[in-house]
Amino acid sequence: MKTIRDLNVKGKHVLVRVDFNVPRKGGAITDDNRIVSALPTIKYLLDKGAAVILFSHLGKVSHKGTPEEIAADKKKNDMVAISVRLGELLGKEKVTFSPETKGESVKKFVEMLRPGEVLLLQNTRYEKGEEKNDPALSKEWASYADAFVMDAFGSAHRAHASTYGVPELLKAEGKDVAVGFLVEKEIEALSRCVDVKKEDRPYVAILGGFKVSDKIKVIDSLLKKCDKILIGGAMAYTFQKALGYEIGVSPFEADQLEYAKKCFETAKGRIVLPVDSVYTDKFEGWTIKEVSKDANIPAGFEGMDIGPKTQALFAKQLVGAKMVFWNGPMGVFEQADFAEGTKVVAKAIVGLDKAFTVIGGGDSAAAAQEFGFKDSFSHVSTGGGASLEMIENDGHLPGIDIIKD
Ligand code: ADP
Ligand code: MG
Repeated sequence: MKTIRDLNVKGKHVLVRVDFNVPRKGGAITDDNRIVSALPTIKYLLDKGAAVILFSHLGKVSHKGTPEEIAADKKKNDMVAISVRLGELLGKEKVTFSPETKGESVKKFVEMLRPGEVLLLQNTRYEKGEEKNDPALSKEWASYADAFVMDAFGSAHRAHASTYGVPELLKAEGKDVAVGFLVEKEIEALSRCVDVKKEDRPYVAILGGFKVSDKIKVIDSLLKKCDKILIGGAMAYTFQKALGYEIGVSPFEADQLEYAKKCFETAKGRIVLPVDSVYTDKFEGWTIKEVSKDANIPAGFEGMDIGPKTQALFAKQLVGAKMVFWNGPMGVFEQADFAEGTKVVAKAIVGLDKAFTVIGGGDSAAAAQEFGFKDSFSHVSTGGGASLEMIENDGHLPGIDIIKD
């Protein structure tokens, strides 16, 4: 697989798929890590005399709604806010923003773009064809470029027009396609969690968070690779319910109960579940904070965090680990009263001696950051879904496989 070091980009138009899908609140960027993470690739290309065209998705644009709803989605996810931040990071004079994703106006911007300059295109998801990997859309985007660089690790698990169709076409035309520095770094770190070396054992995975239906599938693969899997967060309730525990009104996935039970049985003791929980009366506007005496949560109550016995149990399970993959907070860490489980587990991970430690989840990374542990991890992935899928598919992701020769 080529990396950007293998390319001769002088005087060329290089189209770079970045992941600028950053968290925002009321329109303001709350964490620009993904933009900052793409800078090494962008700066390298500029230094080498390329004219750099960047494109990325931002948020969700549903094309099924009424014209008013689609327009509202577009407005909410307008890339212009990102272009301002990019200008601050790179130098305002270098960055041009195209309010459109394709068409005559974009072609003009592309023609005018000089070496050493950056053009950021509008949100790729403004186009209905993006998520469908529409060939006509890929063809138009490919026509802007002499070469393509994939640096959007967070989108590499999606075979969309911008992540798959474009490099596929350019490759067929004999043009250069390569990965950028960020994707190179992510592959290097996560490959270690996929092809596990002897010296990286014991290898412990910690799963939590909320997106259970997306994540639970990875357990099959993790069981083949890991020595132990600790499960907390909302993910745990599906397992606890499957094993016959009372979980009150905690969220669980009804259609995953059988699967969870099967995983637990296959694991033969290698899946470790909470033995107590911190629970409350209701998620919004809660008034009580209680600790259950065992793995059961009383009827009518909702689990919000792993309890103190589980915190100690998980910390003990981590002792001696040489590699840790962590995806998903142990509780609703955004609320100080339910943050302890996540904090204790993060602290136990960074306290390990000479271990290779990876975070693969946006909210987990935000939690680690908030508690001051983020810089102590060996690798913090910019792609939660992508890192999980990479493990699930034994190192393969469509947006990276298409770059390979
Ligand atoms: P990541 O981004 O790290 O992959 P997710 O997006 O899957 O993690 O989940 C993060 C969310 O899960 C957080 O907002 C957190 O509040 C929530 N969460 C964790 N534990 C619970 C729980 N017991 N009940 C409800 N939500 C939870
Ligand atoms: Mg998340």
